[in-house]
Amino acid sequence: MTALDERGPVVVVGAGPCGSVLSIYLARAGHDVVLYESRPDLRRGDLPAGRSINLALATHGIIPLVDIGVIEQVDSITVPMKGRMIHTTGSAELTLQPYGNLPHEVIHSISRVDLNAILLDAAEATGRVRIEFEHRLDNVDFEQSVLSFTTPDGHRELPFGVVFGTDGAGSEVRKAMLGVNGGAQRIEPVGHDYKELTLPSGPAGEFILEPKALHIWPRGEFMLIALANPGGDFTVTLFAPAEGPDGFGELDSPERVRSFFQREFPDFASATPDLETQFFDNPTGHLATLRTRGWSHGHQAVVLGDAAHAIVPFHGQGMNLAMESARILARHLADSSHDIAAAFTSFEAERKPHAEAIADMTLANYVEMRADVLDPEYLLKRALALELERRHPDRLSPRYNMVMFSSMPYSEAQHRASAQAGILVALTHDITSLAQVDYERAAALVGELQPLPDLDPLARPDALSVT
Ligand SMILES: Cc1cc2nc3c(=O)[nH]c(=O)nc-3n(C[C@H](O)[C@H](O)[C@H](O)COP(=O)(O)OP(=O)(O)OC[C@H]3O[C@@H](n4cnc5c(N)ncnc54)[C@H](O)[C@@H]3O)c2cc1C
Repeated sequence: MTALDERGPVVVVGAGPCGSVLSIYLARAGHDVVLYESRPDLRRGDLPAGRSINLALATHGIIPLVDIGVIEQVDSITVPMKGRMIHTTGSAELTLQPYGNLPHEVIHSISRVDLNAILLDAAEATGRVRIEFEHRLDNVDFEQSVLSFTTPDGHRELPFGVVFGTDGAGSEVRKAMLGVNGGAQRIEPVGHDYKELTLPSGPAGEFILEPKALHIWPRGEFMLIALANPGGDFTVTLFAPAEGPDGFGELDSPERVRSFFQREFPDFASATPDLETQFFDNPTGHLATLRTRGWSHGHQAVVLGDAAHAIVPFHGQGMNLAMESARILARHLADSSHDIAAAFTSFEAERKPHAEAIADMTLANYVEMRADVLDPEYLLKRALALELERRHPDRLSPRYNMVMFSSMPYSEAQHRASAQAGILVALTHDITSLAQVDYERAAALVGELQPLPDLDPLARPDALSVT
Protein backbone atom coordinates (compact mmCIF):
# COMPACT_ATOMS: atom_id res chain seq x y z
CA MET A 1 0.00 0.00 0.00
CA THR A 2 1.29 3.48 -0.82
CA ALA A 3 0.65 6.75 0.95
CA LEU A 4 -2.28 7.60 -1.35
CA ASP A 5 -4.33 4.59 -0.20
CA GLU A 6 -3.32 4.65 3.43
CA ARG A 7 -6.01 6.92 4.77
CA GLY A 8 -9.06 5.39 3.10
CA PRO A 9 -10.70 5.04 -0.32
CA VAL A 10 -9.22 6.92 -3.28
CA VAL A 11 -12.18 8.76 -4.77
CA VAL A 12 -12.55 10.69 -8.02
CA VAL A 13 -15.71 12.81 -8.37
CA GLY A 14 -16.79 13.52 -11.96
CA ALA A 15 -16.38 11.05 -14.83
CA GLY A 16 -15.85 13.60 -17.63
CA PRO A 17 -12.65 13.54 -19.70
CA CYS A 18 -10.47 14.72 -16.81
CA GLY A 19 -11.83 12.33 -14.16
CA SER A 20 -11.76 9.32 -16.50
CA VAL A 21 -8.18 9.96 -17.62
CA LEU A 22 -7.06 10.61 -14.04
CA SER A 23 -8.69 7.38 -12.83
CA ILE A 24 -6.70 5.46 -15.45
CA TYR A 25 -3.45 7.05 -14.33
CA LEU A 26 -4.25 6.30 -10.66
CA ALA A 27 -5.14 2.70 -11.50
CA ARG A 28 -1.92 2.33 -13.48
CA ALA A 29 -0.03 3.52 -10.40
CA GLY A 30 -1.58 0.61 -8.50
CA HIS A 31 -4.48 2.33 -6.72
CA ASP A 32 -8.05 1.10 -6.44
CA VAL A 33 -10.33 3.98 -7.38
CA VAL A 34 -14.01 4.73 -6.96
CA LEU A 35 -15.24 7.17 -9.62
CA TYR A 36 -18.55 8.88 -8.79
CA GLU A 37 -20.59 10.54 -11.53
CA SER A 38 -23.84 12.47 -11.09
CA ARG A 39 -25.31 11.52 -14.48
CA PRO A 40 -26.46 8.12 -15.69
CA ASP A 41 -23.98 6.08 -17.72
CA LEU A 42 -23.71 7.90 -21.06
CA ARG A 43 -22.86 4.60 -22.76
CA ARG A 44 -26.45 3.52 -22.18
CA GLY A 45 -28.43 6.61 -23.16
CA ASP A 46 -28.69 9.81 -25.15
CA LEU A 47 -27.16 13.06 -24.06
CA PRO A 48 -29.62 15.96 -24.14
CA ALA A 49 -29.30 18.17 -27.24
CA GLY A 50 -27.25 21.34 -27.01
CA ARG A 51 -24.43 20.12 -24.77
CA SER A 52 -21.33 20.70 -26.90
CA ILE A 53 -21.68 17.59 -28.97
CA ASN A 54 -18.26 17.73 -30.53
CA LEU A 55 -14.96 19.18 -29.47
CA ALA A 56 -11.61 19.99 -31.04
CA LEU A 57 -8.83 17.65 -29.95
CA ALA A 58 -5.21 18.80 -30.31
CA THR A 59 -1.70 17.90 -29.19
CA HIS A 60 -2.02 18.73 -25.46
CA GLY A 61 -4.96 16.32 -25.30
CA ILE A 62 -3.57 13.74 -27.73
CA ILE A 63 -0.49 13.12 -25.54
CA PRO A 64 -2.41 11.73 -22.52
CA LEU A 65 -4.59 9.67 -24.87
CA VAL A 66 -1.46 8.13 -26.42
CA ASP A 67 -0.02 7.65 -22.94
CA ILE A 68 -3.04 5.75 -21.57
CA GLY A 69 -3.26 3.57 -24.70
CA VAL A 70 -6.59 4.61 -26.26
CA ILE A 71 -5.41 6.60 -29.26
CA GLU A 72 -6.30 3.95 -31.85
CA GLN A 73 -9.92 3.84 -30.69
CA VAL A 74 -9.98 7.62 -30.62
CA ASP A 75 -8.63 7.74 -34.17
CA SER A 76 -11.69 5.88 -35.44
CA ILE A 77 -14.05 8.64 -34.24
CA THR A 78 -12.22 11.81 -35.25
CA VAL A 79 -12.64 14.04 -38.30
CA PRO A 80 -9.50 16.08 -39.16
CA MET A 81 -9.93 19.81 -39.80
CA LYS A 82 -7.19 21.38 -41.94
CA GLY A 83 -8.09 25.03 -41.46
CA ARG A 84 -10.76 27.65 -41.01
CA MET A 85 -13.35 27.81 -43.78
CA ILE A 86 -14.57 31.40 -43.83
CA HIS A 87 -18.15 32.23 -44.84
CA THR A 88 -18.26 35.97 -45.58
CA THR A 89 -21.40 38.07 -45.67
CA GLY A 90 -23.07 38.48 -49.05
CA SER A 91 -20.94 35.90 -50.87
CA ALA A 92 -21.37 32.21 -51.51
CA GLU A 93 -17.61 31.90 -52.01
CA LEU A 94 -15.75 30.18 -49.18
CA THR A 95 -12.10 30.70 -48.29
CA LEU A 96 -9.94 28.11 -46.54
CA GLN A 97 -7.32 29.56 -44.18
CA PRO A 98 -5.04 26.53 -43.53
CA TYR A 99 -3.87 26.04 -39.95
CA GLY A 100 -0.34 24.90 -40.63
CA ASN A 101 2.52 24.18 -43.00
CA LEU A 102 2.75 20.45 -42.30
CA PRO A 103 0.24 17.67 -43.07
CA HIS A 104 -0.23 16.67 -39.41
CA GLU A 105 -1.02 20.26 -38.37
CA VAL A 106 -4.76 19.71 -38.27
CA ILE A 107 -7.18 19.71 -35.35
CA HIS A 108 -9.55 16.82 -34.80
CA SER A 109 -13.31 17.07 -34.36
CA ILE A 110 -14.43 14.43 -31.87
CA SER A 111 -17.74 13.53 -30.27
CA ARG A 112 -17.71 14.36 -26.56
CA VAL A 113 -19.89 11.35 -25.74
CA ASP A 114 -17.94 8.86 -27.86
CA LEU A 115 -14.62 10.00 -26.41
CA ASN A 116 -16.01 9.83 -22.88
CA ALA A 117 -17.34 6.31 -23.56
CA ILE A 118 -13.88 5.15 -24.72
CA LEU A 119 -12.34 6.60 -21.56
CA LEU A 120 -14.93 5.00 -19.24
CA ASP A 121 -14.37 1.61 -20.91
CA ALA A 122 -10.61 2.03 -20.55
CA ALA A 123 -10.96 3.00 -16.89
CA GLU A 124 -13.05 -0.11 -16.17
CA ALA A 125 -10.66 -2.27 -18.20
CA THR A 126 -7.87 -1.48 -15.70
CA GLY A 127 -9.76 -3.70 -13.26
CA ARG A 128 -9.10 -1.13 -10.55
CA VAL A 129 -11.74 1.55 -11.26
CA ARG A 130 -15.32 1.09 -10.03
CA ILE A 131 -17.72 3.66 -11.49
CA GLU A 132 -20.81 4.65 -9.53
CA PHE A 133 -23.23 6.55 -11.77
CA GLU A 134 -26.14 8.68 -10.56
CA HIS A 135 -24.16 9.71 -7.49
CA ARG A 136 -24.27 13.50 -7.18
CA LEU A 137 -21.84 14.88 -4.64
CA ASP A 138 -23.53 17.41 -2.35
CA ASN A 139 -20.90 18.01 0.30
CA VAL A 140 -17.44 17.13 1.57
CA ASP A 141 -16.91 16.89 5.34
CA PHE A 142 -13.15 17.19 5.71
CA GLU A 143 -13.16 16.68 9.49
CA GLN A 144 -15.00 13.38 9.32
CA SER A 145 -13.56 12.41 5.87
CA VAL A 146 -17.07 11.78 4.55
CA LEU A 147 -18.63 12.54 1.16
CA SER A 148 -22.42 13.10 0.89
CA PHE A 149 -24.18 11.99 -2.28
CA THR A 150 -27.70 12.10 -3.66
CA THR A 151 -28.56 8.89 -5.53
CA PRO A 152 -31.81 7.48 -6.97
CA ASP A 153 -32.00 5.37 -3.79
CA GLY A 154 -31.62 8.36 -1.51
CA HIS A 155 -28.85 10.01 0.43
CA ARG A 156 -25.50 8.24 0.97
CA GLU A 157 -22.57 9.14 3.19
CA LEU A 158 -19.33 7.49 2.13
CA PRO A 159 -15.83 7.63 3.61
CA PHE A 160 -12.83 8.84 1.66
CA GLY A 161 -9.09 9.05 2.12
CA VAL A 162 -8.28 11.34 -0.79
CA VAL A 163 -10.82 13.00 -3.09
CA PHE A 164 -9.92 14.24 -6.56
CA GLY A 165 -12.43 16.85 -7.73
CA THR A 166 -12.92 16.57 -11.48
CA ASP A 167 -16.55 17.64 -11.26
CA GLY A 168 -16.41 20.46 -13.78
CA ALA A 169 -16.82 24.23 -13.58
CA GLY A 170 -19.55 24.09 -10.91
CA SER A 171 -17.42 21.75 -8.74
CA GLU A 172 -18.85 20.84 -5.34
CA VAL A 173 -15.41 19.61 -4.26
CA ARG A 174 -14.01 23.08 -4.99
CA LYS A 175 -16.84 24.82 -3.16
CA ALA A 176 -16.33 22.70 -0.05
CA MET A 177 -12.57 23.05 -0.21
CA LEU A 178 -12.49 26.82 -0.61
CA GLY A 179 -14.54 26.97 2.57
CA VAL A 180 -11.67 25.45 4.55
CA ASN A 181 -8.36 26.06 2.76
CA GLY A 182 -8.22 29.85 2.49
CA GLY A 183 -8.25 29.72 -1.33
CA ALA A 184 -10.39 31.90 -3.58
CA GLN A 185 -12.16 31.88 -6.92
CA ARG A 186 -13.09 34.53 -9.45
CA ILE A 187 -15.66 33.99 -12.18
CA GLU A 188 -15.21 36.37 -15.12
CA PRO A 189 -18.24 36.35 -17.45
CA VAL A 190 -17.53 37.21 -21.09
CA GLY A 191 -20.95 38.80 -21.56
CA HIS A 192 -21.50 36.50 -24.54
CA ASP A 193 -23.67 33.39 -24.62
CA TYR A 194 -23.81 30.38 -26.93
CA LYS A 195 -26.39 28.07 -28.46
CA GLU A 196 -25.71 24.73 -30.12
CA LEU A 197 -27.67 23.69 -33.20
CA THR A 198 -27.41 20.94 -35.80
CA LEU A 199 -26.91 21.36 -39.52
CA PRO A 200 -28.44 18.19 -40.94
CA SER A 201 -26.75 15.95 -43.51
CA GLY A 202 -27.93 15.92 -47.13
CA PRO A 203 -30.64 13.57 -48.48
CA ALA A 204 -28.20 10.66 -48.91
CA GLY A 205 -26.57 11.23 -45.52
CA GLU A 206 -23.75 13.25 -47.10
CA PHE A 207 -21.99 16.32 -45.68
CA ILE A 208 -23.39 19.48 -47.20
CA LEU A 209 -20.31 21.51 -46.23
CA GLU A 210 -16.63 20.52 -46.45
CA PRO A 211 -16.19 18.26 -43.39
CA LYS A 212 -12.43 18.65 -43.05
CA ALA A 213 -12.48 22.28 -41.95
CA LEU A 214 -13.75 24.34 -39.05
CA HIS A 215 -16.41 26.57 -40.57
CA ILE A 216 -16.63 30.14 -39.29
CA TRP A 217 -19.15 32.82 -40.17
CA PRO A 218 -17.27 35.81 -38.64
CA ARG A 219 -19.51 38.81 -38.10
CA GLY A 220 -17.49 41.16 -35.89
CA GLU A 221 -19.27 41.05 -32.53
CA PHE A 222 -20.71 37.57 -33.05
CA MET A 223 -20.04 34.42 -35.05
CA LEU A 224 -21.34 31.01 -36.02
CA ILE A 225 -19.01 27.99 -36.16
CA ALA A 226 -19.56 24.42 -37.38
CA LEU A 227 -17.65 21.17 -36.78
CA ALA A 228 -18.40 17.96 -38.67
CA ASN A 229 -19.66 14.80 -36.99
CA PRO A 230 -18.79 11.41 -38.54
CA GLY A 231 -22.50 10.78 -39.33
CA GLY A 232 -22.74 13.56 -41.95
CA ASP A 233 -24.23 16.35 -39.85
CA PHE A 234 -22.46 19.33 -38.25
CA THR A 235 -22.62 20.72 -34.74
CA VAL A 236 -23.13 24.44 -35.19
CA THR A 237 -22.69 27.01 -32.42
CA LEU A 238 -23.83 30.62 -32.32
CA PHE A 239 -21.69 32.84 -30.05
CA ALA A 240 -23.13 36.31 -29.54
CA PRO A 241 -23.53 39.05 -26.92
CA ALA A 242 -26.10 38.23 -24.27
CA GLU A 243 -27.78 41.62 -24.76
CA GLY A 244 -27.74 44.52 -27.21
CA PRO A 245 -27.77 44.62 -31.01
CA ASP A 246 -27.56 41.14 -32.59
CA GLY A 247 -27.54 39.64 -29.10
CA PHE A 248 -29.48 36.72 -27.67
CA GLY A 249 -31.89 39.16 -25.99
CA GLU A 250 -33.23 40.13 -29.42
CA LEU A 251 -33.76 36.56 -30.59
CA ASP A 252 -37.03 36.14 -28.72
CA SER A 253 -39.44 34.87 -31.39
CA PRO A 254 -39.32 32.31 -34.22
CA GLU A 255 -39.70 35.10 -36.79
CA ARG A 256 -36.77 37.07 -35.37
CA VAL A 257 -34.60 33.96 -35.20
CA ARG A 258 -35.35 33.00 -38.81
CA SER A 259 -34.78 36.51 -40.10
CA PHE A 260 -31.50 36.95 -38.13
CA PHE A 261 -30.07 33.64 -39.38
CA GLN A 262 -31.34 34.21 -42.94
CA ARG A 263 -29.64 37.63 -43.02
CA GLU A 264 -26.36 36.62 -41.36
CA PHE A 265 -25.91 32.93 -42.16
CA PRO A 266 -28.13 32.24 -45.20
CA ASP A 267 -26.45 28.98 -46.26
CA PHE A 268 -26.94 27.50 -42.79
CA ALA A 269 -30.48 28.87 -42.38
CA SER A 270 -31.69 27.55 -45.76
CA ALA A 271 -30.37 24.06 -45.01
CA THR A 272 -31.93 23.89 -41.53
CA PRO A 273 -35.72 23.74 -41.81
CA ASP A 274 -36.25 23.19 -38.07
CA LEU A 275 -33.95 26.04 -37.06
CA GLU A 276 -36.56 27.83 -34.94
CA THR A 277 -37.54 24.65 -33.08
CA GLN A 278 -33.93 23.80 -32.36
CA PHE A 279 -33.23 27.35 -31.26
CA PHE A 280 -35.95 27.36 -28.63
CA ASP A 281 -35.55 23.71 -27.56
CA ASN A 282 -31.81 23.86 -26.98
CA PRO A 283 -30.42 25.60 -23.91
CA THR A 284 -28.49 28.86 -24.05
CA GLY A 285 -25.09 28.50 -22.38
CA HIS A 286 -23.19 31.26 -20.58
CA LEU A 287 -19.47 31.79 -21.02
CA ALA A 288 -17.05 32.63 -18.22
CA THR A 289 -13.44 32.13 -17.22
CA LEU A 290 -12.91 30.60 -13.79
CA ARG A 291 -9.70 31.58 -12.01
CA THR A 292 -8.97 29.92 -8.69
CA ARG A 293 -6.16 29.59 -6.18
CA GLY A 294 -6.00 26.98 -3.46
CA TRP A 295 -6.51 23.84 -5.55
CA SER A 296 -5.93 21.47 -2.66
CA HIS A 297 -6.56 20.86 1.02
CA GLY A 298 -3.69 19.12 2.76
CA HIS A 299 -3.46 15.50 1.71
CA GLN A 300 -7.26 15.17 1.49
CA ALA A 301 -8.39 16.87 -1.71
CA VAL A 302 -7.32 18.44 -4.97
CA VAL A 303 -9.29 19.87 -7.90
CA LEU A 304 -8.28 19.74 -11.56
CA GLY A 305 -9.75 20.15 -15.03
CA ASP A 306 -12.63 22.62 -15.34
CA ALA A 307 -13.11 22.34 -11.56
CA ALA A 308 -9.86 24.29 -11.14
CA HIS A 309 -9.49 26.21 -14.39
CA ALA A 310 -12.54 26.45 -16.66
CA ILE A 311 -11.86 28.52 -19.77
CA VAL A 312 -14.05 29.75 -22.61
CA PRO A 313 -14.11 27.53 -25.72
CA PHE A 314 -12.50 29.77 -28.36
CA HIS A 315 -9.14 28.02 -28.56
CA GLY A 316 -10.65 24.52 -28.34
CA GLN A 317 -8.36 23.78 -25.38
CA GLY A 318 -10.46 23.27 -22.21
CA MET A 319 -10.69 19.50 -22.52
CA ASN A 320 -7.13 19.25 -23.84
CA LEU A 321 -5.92 21.24 -20.84
CA ALA A 322 -8.04 19.14 -18.45
CA MET A 323 -6.69 15.79 -19.71
CA GLU A 324 -3.13 17.14 -19.71
CA SER A 325 -3.64 18.27 -16.09
CA ALA A 326 -4.55 14.68 -15.16
CA ARG A 327 -1.27 13.46 -16.64
CA ILE A 328 0.76 16.15 -14.89
CA LEU A 329 -0.89 15.47 -11.52
CA ALA A 330 -0.09 11.77 -11.92
CA ARG A 331 3.56 12.73 -12.46
CA HIS A 332 3.60 14.88 -9.30
CA LEU A 333 2.09 12.02 -7.32
CA ALA A 334 4.66 9.58 -8.68
CA ASP A 335 7.49 12.00 -7.88
CA SER A 336 6.45 12.43 -4.24
CA SER A 337 4.30 9.41 -3.50
CA HIS A 338 4.87 9.65 0.26
CA ASP A 339 3.88 13.29 0.60
CA ILE A 340 0.52 13.71 -1.09
CA ALA A 341 -0.01 17.26 0.18
CA ALA A 342 3.35 18.31 -1.31
CA ALA A 343 2.43 16.67 -4.63
CA PHE A 344 -0.84 18.64 -4.73
CA THR A 345 0.91 21.91 -3.90
CA SER A 346 3.65 21.44 -6.48
CA PHE A 347 1.00 20.45 -9.05
CA GLU A 348 -0.81 23.77 -8.57
CA ALA A 349 2.47 25.71 -8.62
CA GLU A 350 3.41 24.16 -11.98
CA ARG A 351 -0.02 24.16 -13.55
CA LYS A 352 -1.68 27.42 -12.55
CA PRO A 353 0.51 29.71 -14.72
CA HIS A 354 -0.30 27.56 -17.75
CA ALA A 355 -4.03 27.57 -16.99
CA GLU A 356 -3.90 31.38 -16.70
CA ALA A 357 -1.96 31.67 -19.96
CA ILE A 358 -4.37 29.58 -22.00
CA ALA A 359 -7.34 31.35 -20.41
CA ASP A 360 -5.97 34.66 -21.70
CA MET A 361 -4.95 33.36 -25.13
CA THR A 362 -8.43 31.86 -25.49
CA LEU A 363 -10.10 35.21 -24.91
CA ALA A 364 -7.80 36.76 -27.54
CA ASN A 365 -8.70 33.99 -29.96
CA TYR A 366 -12.41 34.89 -29.75
CA VAL A 367 -11.65 38.30 -31.29
CA GLU A 368 -9.43 36.59 -33.87
CA MET A 369 -12.20 34.18 -34.89
CA ARG A 370 -15.16 36.54 -34.96
CA ALA A 371 -13.42 39.61 -36.43
CA ASP A 372 -9.69 39.42 -37.26
CA VAL A 373 -9.98 36.59 -39.80
CA LEU A 374 -11.47 39.21 -42.17
CA ASP A 375 -8.89 41.91 -41.46
CA PRO A 376 -6.20 42.29 -44.20
CA GLU A 377 -3.58 43.36 -41.62
CA TYR A 378 -4.21 40.26 -39.51
CA LEU A 379 -4.17 38.04 -42.61
CA LEU A 380 -0.84 39.47 -43.74
CA LYS A 381 0.71 38.87 -40.30
CA ARG A 382 -0.67 35.34 -40.17
CA ALA A 383 0.67 34.58 -43.69
CA LEU A 384 4.04 36.03 -42.70
CA ALA A 385 4.16 33.95 -39.49
CA LEU A 386 3.58 30.81 -41.55
CA GLU A 387 6.22 31.89 -44.09
CA LEU A 388 8.75 32.59 -41.33
CA GLU A 389 8.00 29.20 -39.83
CA ARG A 390 8.77 27.64 -43.23
CA ARG A 391 12.06 29.53 -43.37
CA HIS A 392 13.05 29.15 -39.69
CA PRO A 393 11.22 26.06 -38.40
CA ASP A 394 13.49 25.74 -35.37
CA ARG A 395 12.87 29.32 -34.14
CA LEU A 396 9.34 30.49 -34.87
CA SER A 397 5.84 29.06 -35.03
CA PRO A 398 2.57 31.05 -35.14
CA ARG A 399 0.83 31.40 -31.77
CA TYR A 400 -2.18 29.31 -32.78
CA ASN A 401 0.15 26.53 -33.96
CA MET A 402 2.27 26.54 -30.79
CA VAL A 403 -0.92 26.09 -28.76
CA MET A 404 -2.56 23.50 -30.98
CA PHE A 405 0.26 21.51 -32.58
CA SER A 406 3.03 21.49 -29.99
CA SER A 407 3.45 20.22 -26.46
CA MET A 408 5.00 23.54 -25.43
CA PRO A 409 3.69 24.65 -22.04
CA TYR A 410 0.97 27.26 -22.53
CA SER A 411 2.77 30.08 -20.71
CA GLU A 412 5.85 29.57 -22.87
CA ALA A 413 3.63 29.75 -25.99
CA GLN A 414 2.13 32.99 -24.65
CA HIS A 415 5.54 34.48 -23.93
CA ARG A 416 6.94 33.52 -27.34
CA ALA A 417 3.81 34.74 -29.12
CA SER A 418 4.22 38.15 -27.57
CA ALA A 419 7.87 38.38 -28.74
CA GLN A 420 6.86 37.15 -32.21
CA ALA A 421 4.01 39.67 -32.41
CA GLY A 422 6.58 42.48 -32.10
CA ILE A 423 8.55 41.01 -35.02
CA LEU A 424 5.44 40.65 -37.18
CA VAL A 425 4.39 44.24 -36.50
CA ALA A 426 7.88 45.53 -37.36
CA LEU A 427 8.06 43.53 -40.60
CA THR A 428 4.57 44.35 -41.89
CA HIS A 429 4.64 48.07 -41.13
CA ASP A 430 3.71 49.98 -44.32
CA ILE A 431 3.50 46.92 -46.59
CA THR A 432 0.52 45.03 -48.05
CA SER A 433 1.93 41.74 -49.36
CA LEU A 434 4.43 39.03 -48.50
CA ALA A 435 6.47 39.97 -51.60
CA GLN A 436 7.39 43.27 -49.92
CA VAL A 437 8.81 41.69 -46.75
CA ASP A 438 12.48 42.37 -45.98
CA TYR A 439 13.50 38.75 -45.36
CA GLU A 440 17.09 39.63 -44.43
CA ARG A 441 15.82 41.77 -41.59
CA ALA A 442 13.32 39.04 -40.77
CA ALA A 443 16.15 36.47 -40.47
CA ALA A 444 18.05 38.78 -38.11
CA LEU A 445 15.00 39.36 -35.90
CA VAL A 446 13.96 35.70 -35.84
CA GLY A 447 17.57 34.74 -35.08
CA GLU A 448 17.25 36.57 -31.77
CA LEU A 449 14.46 34.21 -30.63
CA GLN A 450 15.34 31.20 -28.49
CA PRO A 451 15.20 27.88 -30.38
CA LEU A 452 11.82 26.14 -30.15
CA PRO A 453 11.72 23.29 -27.60
CA ASP A 454 11.54 19.66 -28.69
CA LEU A 455 8.12 18.00 -28.88
CA ASP A 456 7.10 15.58 -26.13
CA PRO A 457 7.98 12.11 -27.52
CA LEU A 458 4.32 11.11 -27.14
CA ALA A 459 3.20 13.97 -29.42
CA ARG A 460 3.55 11.68 -32.42
CA PRO A 461 2.60 13.45 -35.67
CA ASP A 462 1.06 10.16 -36.87
CA ALA A 463 -1.03 9.60 -33.71
CA LEU A 464 -4.28 10.46 -35.52
CA SER A 465 -5.24 10.21 -39.19
CA VAL A 466 -5.07 13.48 -41.06
CA THR A 467 -6.90 12.55 -44.27
C1 LIG B 1 -19.58 25.11 -26.13
C2 LIG B 1 -18.30 24.50 -25.65
C3 LIG B 1 -17.38 24.06 -26.58
C4 LIG B 1 -16.18 23.51 -26.16
N1 LIG B 1 -15.28 23.11 -27.10
C5 LIG B 1 -14.10 22.58 -26.71
C6 LIG B 1 -13.18 22.12 -27.69
O1 LIG B 1 -13.42 22.21 -28.89
N2 LIG B 1 -12.00 21.58 -27.25
C7 LIG B 1 -11.70 21.48 -25.93
O2 LIG B 1 -10.61 21.00 -25.59
N3 LIG B 1 -12.57 21.90 -24.98
C8 LIG B 1 -13.76 22.44 -25.34
N4 LIG B 1 -14.65 22.85 -24.40
C9 LIG B 1 -14.28 22.74 -22.98
C10 LIG B 1 -14.50 21.34 -22.45
O3 LIG B 1 -15.84 20.97 -22.64
C11 LIG B 1 -14.15 21.26 -20.97
O4 LIG B 1 -12.97 21.97 -20.71
C12 LIG B 1 -13.96 19.82 -20.54
O5 LIG B 1 -15.18 19.12 -20.70
C13 LIG B 1 -13.50 19.75 -19.09
O6 LIG B 1 -13.44 18.43 -18.68
P1 LIG B 1 -13.65 18.06 -17.15
O7 LIG B 1 -13.61 16.57 -17.10
O8 LIG B 1 -12.74 18.84 -16.31
O9 LIG B 1 -15.11 18.59 -16.79
P2 LIG B 1 -16.52 18.15 -17.39
O10 LIG B 1 -16.40 17.73 -18.79
O11 LIG B 1 -17.47 19.25 -17.04
O12 LIG B 1 -16.89 16.85 -16.54
C14 LIG B 1 -17.31 16.95 -15.20
C15 LIG B 1 -18.07 15.69 -14.86
O13 LIG B 1 -18.44 15.77 -13.49
C16 LIG B 1 -19.82 15.44 -13.34
N5 LIG B 1 -20.29 16.16 -12.16
C17 LIG B 1 -20.55 17.48 -12.04
N6 LIG B 1 -20.95 17.78 -10.79
C18 LIG B 1 -20.95 16.61 -10.10
C19 LIG B 1 -21.30 16.27 -8.76
N7 LIG B 1 -21.70 17.19 -7.90
N8 LIG B 1 -21.19 14.97 -8.38
C20 LIG B 1 -20.75 14.02 -9.27
N9 LIG B 1 -20.44 14.29 -10.55
C21 LIG B 1 -20.53 15.57 -10.97
C22 LIG B 1 -20.45 15.90 -14.64
O14 LIG B 1 -21.67 15.25 -14.89
C23 LIG B 1 -19.37 15.57 -15.64
O15 LIG B 1 -19.48 14.26 -16.12
C24 LIG B 1 -15.89 23.38 -24.78
C25 LIG B 1 -16.82 23.81 -23.84
C26 LIG B 1 -18.00 24.37 -24.28
C27 LIG B 1 -18.98 24.84 -23.24
